[in-house]
Amino acid sequence: MTHKVVATDKVSNSGLRTLVEDDNFEVVFAHDSESAEFGSALEAAEALIVRSATTVDAALLDQGPELRVIGRAGVGVDNIDIPAASERGIAVVNAPSGNTIAAAEMTMALILATMRHVAAADASLRAGRWDRNLFKGAELRGRRLGLIGAGRIGAEVAIRCQAFAMDVIIYDPYLSEERAEEIGSRLTELDEVVTTSDVISLHVPLTDETRGMLDEAAIMRMKQGTYVVNASRGGVVNEDDLAASLESGHLGGAALDVYEDEPLSEDSPLRSAPNLTLTPHLGASTVEAQEHVAVEVAVNVAAVLVDGDLSAALNKDQLSN
Ligand code: NAD
Repeated sequence: MTHKVVATDKVSNSGLRTLVEDDNFEVVFAHDSESAEFGSALEAAEALIVRSATTVDAALLDQGPELRVIGRAGVGVDNIDIPAASERGIAVVNAPSGNTIAAAEMTMALILATMRHVAAADASLRAGRWDRNLFKGAELRGRRLGLIGAGRIGAEVAIRCQAFAMDVIIYDPYLSEERAEEIGSRLTELDEVVTTSDVISLHVPLTDETRGMLDEAAIMRMKQGTYVVNASRGGVVNEDDLAASLESGHLGGAALDVYEDEPLSEDSPLRSAPNLTLTPHLGASTVEAQEHVAVEVAVNVAAVLVDGDLSAALNKDQLSN
């Protein structure tokens, strides 16, 4: 029996080659999920593979009566209504590790760019100036990195920052002491991370616990001149409070790759805040990551379709009920 798979959102074609080259699967690439081609492919599809652009809600699931699995080529599943999928007996799988290195390297780029004013210096030079005195930076060596969340990405950032001779401490209530030691760091309370770090980098999911965890109260407890970097999920750092603390000069600088609402609104106070590096959610945007997440999701989708293997399903507990 051939399993019909529809892939949208420009999922890497070559990443899905294990499915494309296997006679057990028929893969339709319909890159625009608003198109008629996508709608008709979905009617017969047992699997739908998306990135982040397509909202997989109850209405969309109802257009795919044969669906057995939704694959997200990436980590975040904010665009997928998992309870609605579970109700319909549809597994949801993702690709949790394919973009880990891309996101960790992006974090390093943001830390370094912010502490050395790379974007502002570039803009100044292009505007015809030669402002060497305006852009005195700070070194990573000997400074303290405070990680909030040290799962896949946070751990890779810890390792890279140690190569820059930083002292790394971690707040992550779900991480073991052994794991923290393995990555050369020390577990501690949020308070120590907030009050003693020179650079704070967040690598947590957006949950009720993490939403707004860096707000005005937390930022005001940071040392004067602390740098804050968020390449995890928008909403974890309060954007208005961050902009205000950059304006007041309390923070040394900040960098954001993710926002409460994406795309970032044109009148967001972040757009004019000083000492702030902004990138439009580029953490996973490398050639390698796009390929890796497609390869990873293909394996997880095939496991569900061919073997009924739900071990990678995020909603496996709901499905077995
Ligand atoms: P992960 O699940 O491996 O790690 C998350 C860590 O956060 C875990 O160790 C967990 O214990 C910890 N955590 C959970 N709740 C916490 C809390 N309240 N306080 C402190 N720590 C807490 O995830 P990951 O793959 O490392 O991804 C981290 C984040 O980066 C996710 O939000 C993911 O969506 C995001 N991400 C962003 C990009 C991007 O393009 N910018 C790319 C990939 C991933």
